[in-house]
Amino acid sequence: GKRDIDSPPVSSSADYPDLRKHNNCMASALTPAIYGRLRDKTTPYNWTLDQSIQTGVDNPGHPFIKTVGMVAGDEESYEVFADLFDPVIKERHNGYDPRTMKHPTDLDSSKITSGMFDERYVLSSRVRTGRSIRGLSLPPACSRSERREVERVVVQALAGLKGDLAGRYYSLGDMTEHEQQRLIDDHFLFDKPVSPLLTCAGMARLCFFRLDLDTLILRHNNEKNFLVWINEEDHTRVISMEKGGNMKRVFERFCRGLKEVERLIMERGWEFMWNERLGYILTCPSNLGTGLRAGVHIRLPNLGKDPRFSKILENLRLQKRGTGGVDTAAVGDTFDISNLDRLGKSEVELVQLVVDGVNYLIECEKRLERGQDIRIPPPLPQFKK
Ligand code: ADP
Ligand code: MG
Repeated sequence: GKRDIDSPPVSSSADYPDLRKHNNCMASALTPAIYGRLRDKTTPYNWTLDQSIQTGVDNPGHPFIKTVGMVAGDEESYEVFADLFDPVIKERHNGYDPRTMKHPTDLDSSKITSGMFDERYVLSSRVRTGRSIRGLSLPPACSRSERREVERVVVQALAGLKGDLAGRYYSLGDMTEHEQQRLIDDHFLFDKPVSPLLTCAGMARLCFFRLDLDTLILRHNNEKNFLVWINEEDHTRVISMEKGGNMKRVFERFCRGLKEVERLIMERGWEFMWNERLGYILTCPSNLGTGLRAGVHIRLPNLGKDPRFSKILENLRLQKRGTGGVDTAAVGDTFDISNLDRLGKSEVELVQLVVDGVNYLIECEKRLERGQDIRIPPPLPQFKK
């Protein structure tokens, strides 16, 4: 029957989600005891645990990667719901303990060695991160007015980008289907907002990233090798990319552009969400720390079919995606290969890990071409207490 407002509150066990068929980090970490402790808490921005985990309840698993299964609605979510976020972060980031460890930052791209890939294999190189503006809800919880505020702050600040970083803005709302599709095909745009991971989570199963087209902004420079997305999964995403295998140059431009973006936004009195244990705070726990995903589109016709491929990637802490973005399967012999972890290692360390890992994959591919054997490398060590 119907409950009236004076009846006693529903017990947390009656509200506990059915996660028996689930395979994501949230589902592995959640227990009735944790749920009982956190269910009735709210952050200062009124975000709840149920809202944080809705994406992982709705999406039992992902066909290609083990997902996190929960998101933050604001900076405080990571503290208020730490009993659940902490074990999820630890599993997702190779054993990093978010209570006791400190996250390093290093944007000195001159330290990268061997950052030029063999272009017979590597088709394009890309480095991205995100930054969130302190004092505003994160996209899963962002109101229309907050999204407009994000847009206003960032667009005004980035008007100060000069030289090769100067460029223009596109509001998704002002774009035709045709223009959108062109940008998607050129890999400059997030995939269409249809990803189940991205769209069906959040409050009352409304859009998780509401992706209101009027406040969803793409900015690129004239060369189209330095891009900023506004109001997608994070308040901002900063991207450096180009065709070919020059990862060192891509990372140099990334560091220079990111420092400019940070300077211009902070100059106007805003801060980024950051703390020394979690690094930069982003919507998805998989992106805490550096927020950095350095990746290549790479052709691996032999290794891509080899049964050892997955194990090699796992041991090198690399992730494989399809070339159309996180929700696409690999088509043919071309893969998106990037770092798996973002937290506990600096930007320089992560890019070097990708450089060394991808060079190893290319070596394997060449050996297989010549009919020689390949070796599964030993696993990279986990974080130690
Ligand atoms: P992320 O969210 O990490 O930016 P996605 O997997 O959602 O990445 O992909 C976003 C877009 O970026 C997609 O169009 C994808 O094809 C493109 N992309 C990702 N990596 C590369 C790369 N190395 N070269 C070219 N395009 C890329
Ligand atoms: Mg994405």
